[in-house]
Parts: sequence; C-alpha cells; structure tokens
Amino acid sequence: MDTMETARWRFTNDYLVEVFGSDSKGALAIEEQSRKAGLSPIAVTADIGQLLTLLVRMNDVQNAIEVGTLGGYSAFHILSGLRPGGKLISIEKDANTAAIATQNLAPYADRVRVEVGAALDVLPRLAKELGPASVQFVFLDADKVEYTGYFELLKPLLAEGGLLVADNVLGTRQWWIDDLEHPSRQGVDRFNRAIAADPEMDVAAVVARQGLLFARKRRAAERKP
Ligand code: SAH
Ligand code: MG
Repeated sequence: MDTMETARWRFTNDYLVEVFGSDSKGALAIEEQSRKAGLSPIAVTADIGQLLTLLVRMNDVQNAIEVGTLGGYSAFHILSGLRPGGKLISIEKDANTAAIATQNLAPYADRVRVEVGAALDVLPRLAKELGPASVQFVFLDADKVEYTGYFELLKPLLAEGGLLVADNVLGTRQWWIDDLEHPSRQGVDRFNRAIAADPEMDVAAVVARQGLLFARKRRAAERKP
C-alpha cells in the first residue's frame, strides 16, 4: 500500500539518507550481500541505522537483544555502538535467513550472535542465560502481531535505564495505522497502548519512516508514587 508516499515525503526520506545515513563500508557490504542473497528490502534505512548506533552509544550498552535479524543490517548498526566488550544477540526465525545474516556478520563474530528460532521460544532461553536486568538495549523488528509478547518476555531482562526501540509502530508496506482491521495493525496497536500505559516505562513514539517507538525502563527512584 501507499504509506504516505507523497513526493515531498519521498524527497524528505531520501534527503535524510543522503545527509544523515550511515555509509560505512561494513554497512554497504551487508546491504549488497543481502540484496544478492535475495532477501526482501525491508531492513531499516541508513538514517535509522545511524540513529540505532547513536542510541546504543548513548546508553553505554554491554548487552543488546534484537528481535528480527533479516540480513543483519540493523544488527550491524547496533553492534557498531556497543561499548568495548559489549555483545548483541539477534533472533531470526527463518533458518536460511539466519545463515545469510551469520555470514554477513562474520567480521563482527566477536560481538554478535544470531540465534535461530521463533522469538517467543528463544527469549525464555535467553532470559535464563543472561539473567534479569542484564540488557541495556532492545530492538523489536519481527512479527508485529507478537510485539506485546516480546515486550512481556523482555521487560524483566531490561536493566533500569535500559532502552527498548520498536520499528513499524505506525505501519509497514502491507498496512498503516489507519487500517483498523489488519491483524498486524491490531497487534501493534495493542503493544503501543500497553507500553504507553506501563507505569515502569517512559515512552515516546515518532513519525520516522514507518513509526519508531522508544521506551526506557524507569529506575526505582523515578517511579511515580
Ligand atoms: N531488523 C532487520 C529487518 C528485520 S525484517 C533490519 O532492519 O535489518 C523481520 C525479520 O523478522 C525477518 O527476517 C523475519 O524472518 C523475522 N521474523 C519474523 N517472525 C519472527 C519471529 N517470530 N521470531 C524471530 N524472527 C522473526
Ligand atoms: Mg522494520
């Protein structure tokens, strides 16, 4: 569908990529290898990649989790911002896609691990491995219907001050937030409303690309009485 694709919106987005988009060799290589491998072109754009790196760096992240790897393009931007010794675990349901991502991310194998499996199955395993309050950054970008489920499993893993970023909180190529009957729209709407109302989270969302949400876990002292 036509997601706000006016000429001015297109120009604006192209401008953001041109001026603010990451264009490191590493990012370009992953983009090209993903295209050659035939992955669908639904990775975050270069300007959002740059934003992910910035946010991860701002939070001095030791442990990060990504839900939805695809070819590893967003993973590359997350791991680029990790503190020295920091680690990213990225979850991908499709085995072939995960294999491509693992290959694309091979130069950074000391910092990133791709976990193959459905996120709702993998996350409980990761919770045991990492322990509570051990993760400072989370990026959600997999099955939109499951966003609330991802959040419920990830919330105990998030450290105080930890940041959760969710992509596509306003739409994808298939639906937009005004398509009231679309199942993905309904799933994302449920997630948006639940996290916005969560007293333990500070939450904001913006119209960037297909909608980005930012949620930070409050420290105990920051909680409302
Ligand atoms: N974050 C990537 C794009 C992810 S596209 C980037 O910006 O570069 C969404 C990915 O999530 C697809 O590769 C899809 O196979 C995967 N996915 C879909 N449902 C999933 C699930 N339940 N668990 C884990 N991954 C899933
Ligand atoms: Mg996305």
